[in-house]
Amino acid sequence: GVRRIAVIGSGIAGLTLGHRLKQAGFQVTLFDKARGPGGRMASKRLEQGSLDLGAQYFTVRDPRFRRFLADHASGCLGEWTGTLRYQRPDGTLSPYHADTRYVGVPRMSAITRALSDGLALNTGTRITRIGHTPDQGWQLQDEAGASWGDYDRLILCQPPVQARDLLAASDLDDEAGVLADHLDALTPCWAVAAHFSTPLSLGYDGIQFQQGPLQWAANNSSKPGRKDAGQWWVLHGSSEWSDSHREATGAEVEAALLAAFREQTGETVQPDQVLSHRWLFARAEVSAAQGHLILAGGELAVCGDWLHGGRVEGAFLSAESLLTAWGLSG
Ligand code: FAD
Repeated sequence: GVRRIAVIGSGIAGLTLGHRLKQAGFQVTLFDKARGPGGRMASKRLEQGSLDLGAQYFTVRDPRFRRFLADHASGCLGEWTGTLRYQRPDGTLSPYHADTRYVGVPRMSAITRALSDGLALNTGTRITRIGHTPDQGWQLQDEAGASWGDYDRLILCQPPVQARDLLAASDLDDEAGVLADHLDALTPCWAVAAHFSTPLSLGYDGIQFQQGPLQWAANNSSKPGRKDAGQWWVLHGSSEWSDSHREATGAEVEAALLAAFREQTGETVQPDQVLSHRWLFARAEVSAAQGHLILAGGELAVCGDWLHGGRVEGAFLSAESLLTAWGLSG
């Protein structure tokens, strides 16, 4: 009969696996604890418009990624041509030469929304326990107590701490032990968004900082198709700063990162709206080189950006590397 596969996590890694495995003839079911797909490519909806609080843009270097996006997300893929600056260690600014920068239109999450089309995805479903028997394969249990199964194979596309916690809660101690080597792979990031009714006149739309609490600031309204009144800027705290302010309140973080933004840019205009979001698992600063993990004798696997260099394309390539290992690529 048709082989059944469950995927936990509907970020870009899980969605890639969903399409590829479906094409290969599997019956695939995806689960995400969030209200919608996308993971760290999700966007925050506002009364008017939306904000990319996670992934800001991504590059496409591998032809397989280019083809995948053309096949499944061509209608919502845009190029962000905003001017970027890079702050040198001495504080001076230099142009930022990067490859073509891609974003979702009109919001980053349009891409993962399009990618979820045609897939069996259960959102709002946090998987809290998994189990395996030789006869029935994998069984999943969600937070509400419902059971899902049976599945021949199971793929975890979660950040490493969450994958480890799920394995440990399921008494899969050896498998949880493998994940223990990766718990630091993703560093936290505090994000703050500020709306300015008067556009700022900084002369750039995005800047990467080298010192201080900030790592990045970008004019979200300069991305294609946003149509905002005024400008929304998104500020990202550095990994170190975000880590040492894990337990700070949103109001404290908003004040601190806005003060850093004013100090670094010389900007004096006050925002008329501010909000914040804490990503506990945001960026892969150092990355494992495995591409993916295969556990429990081969019927359980783990994928994610943190296993393939970080970033959006890394998450896609992690999924591809598992498919290659399973002989399912192409
Ligand atoms: P994720 O997107 O994290 O997906 C994991 C999913 O698993 C989530 O949706 C989560 O809800 C779900 N999940 C976890 N546990 C459970 C459970 N128990 N049950 C059900 N579901 C569960 N990348 C770039 O390329 N360029 C950038 O500019 C960039 N900037 C970034 C800035 C920030 C602030 C952040 C947070 C990330 C940034 N990234 C950037 C990284 C990029 O977003 C990630 O590399 C990529 O989106 C990761 O995809 P993924 O599928 O591996 O994981």
